Amino acid sequence: MTVLLQIGRRPPDPPPQGLPAPSPAPAPGPPPASAEAKVFRSAHGAHLFVADGSRVYDLPEPLADRLERWTAAPDAALPDLARDLGLPLWSRPRIDGTPAEPPPLASLSLNVMQACNLSCGHCYADEGRFGGSARSMPRHTAYAAVDRLLAEAAPGADVVVGFMGGEPLLARDLVHDVVRYATRAAADAGNPVRFSLTTNLTTVRPQDARLFAAHPFTVTVSLDGDRAGHDALRRAPGGASAYDRLRAGLDVLARHGRPRHLSARVSVTPRTGRLVDVLDHGIGLGFDEVGFAAVVSAPDPAYEITARAFDGFLDQMVECGERALRKLSAGRDYPFGNFLTAMRELHRGTHRPYPCGAGAGYLSASAEGGLYACHRLVDDPAFAMGSVAEGPDGEARRRHLATGHVDRAEPCRSCWARYLCGGGCYHEVSRRGRPGCDYIRGWLAFCLRAYVELSQAAPEFFRLPPEPAATTAGATGLV
Ligand code: SF4
Ligand code: SF4
Repeated sequence: MTVLLQIGRRPPDPPPQGLPAPSPAPAPGPPPASAEAKVFRSAHGAHLFVADGSRVYDLPEPLADRLERWTAAPDAALPDLARDLGLPLWSRPRIDGTPAEPPPLASLSLNVMQACNLSCGHCYADEGRFGGSARSMPRHTAYAAVDRLLAEAAPGADVVVGFMGGEPLLARDLVHDVVRYATRAAADAGNPVRFSLTTNLTTVRPQDARLFAAHPFTVTVSLDGDRAGHDALRRAPGGASAYDRLRAGLDVLARHGRPRHLSARVSVTPRTGRLVDVLDHGIGLGFDEVGFAAVVSAPDPAYEITARAFDGFLDQMVECGERALRKLSAGRDYPFGNFLTAMRELHRGTHRPYPCGAGAGYLSASAEGGLYACHRLVDDPAFAMGSVAEGPDGEARRRHLATGHVDRAEPCRSCWARYLCGGGCYHEVSRRGRPGCDYIRGWLAFCLRAYVELSQAAPEFFRLPPEPAATTAGATGLV
């Protein structure tokens, strides 16, 4: 039998009993061999990534050559490979095309203010209005949403209440009241509660900072670059500088109370500056983590990263990733969020048939109390999932999880990255399709190599306790 050295945490599979069991066929028929395994190389030699289970192995070079030829063969079949090479890798399929049942609710975001004080061409939320009129969530709806979350959560499980917008701090009094209400209600229900809030930080006040510090808060700040870069994308009323107001907001946090986790999220458009400079700038401002997200769907197409622009985006992401790899390998800190998340998730062996928890353990409540699959899909009837008053619509969630299973989507079922990617953000796919697949695979291929090299250079990195989640959404943000 070929000896493989597993790098990740999980123990190797036991030897197979006979031929690998065939997966219950995901429609329509089994995926090609190239979707099951990927050979990649690092500074330490050849390695094998097995899609099912996201397992990573060291591989002798002659075997790597054979595997590469096999995965490139158009008629290669999984049972033949397993028998030919004696690899005990596909004996127990972990994901077999069966849709997940809707789990208990773990996370609910409240669109407390569907309006914003800035005007940004790349905003998916249409300045918070989601195509409708500006409005805020009534207090009784917000309290009922908290009650609904606790009623639908598993007994004793952690829950997250998120505040989204628009700009949630325009509904400051409501945010404060809901935090107090949820803290009491969650204690009574026996569910530990955490909070998250996504903000442009232009209106934060000392009492907000004290609230963030007094409760388990993750605050995510929208940052798009240095002063010139940020202000070019985020227009403040009267020509004021949104960047200056954000910096003033950071001072308020520094003086009056810092949240447990403070991250920056950069929305990357064709107008964004060089990413490594933006990253260094964000890290220099003192954020615990700085991450990038390509703008794939925006009200103004001039702000969208097109299929062609994804090539340049990948090059720049890898440049940032190489810098993170060098610094972390030398035992230094470098909080590049996308890279840190990818390293932790690869080490955990994350494999999932969905891109995120939207419509599963995570839902988002509109200002009127409608429930939707996620904060970006608010007011979209195709992703309506019940209401705060009536509860989550189990049938709608079941349908969503059945159609969203990555093994049922084309071209995802033929993609080696499918259990890391999950098939792409529902919001982006529903608006623009999947223009970024080569980028996703390129980034993940880089991350696999970096994972092997970092686990050799700095194994202690993987022994550190994980940072708190940076979002409400249940999305791991691996891509
Ligand atoms: S969205 Fe693209 S990269 Fe992701 S699984 Fe589907 S085909 Fe692969
Ligand atoms: S990745 Fe999931 S949670 Fe995030 S915006 Fe897309 S659908 Fe919503």
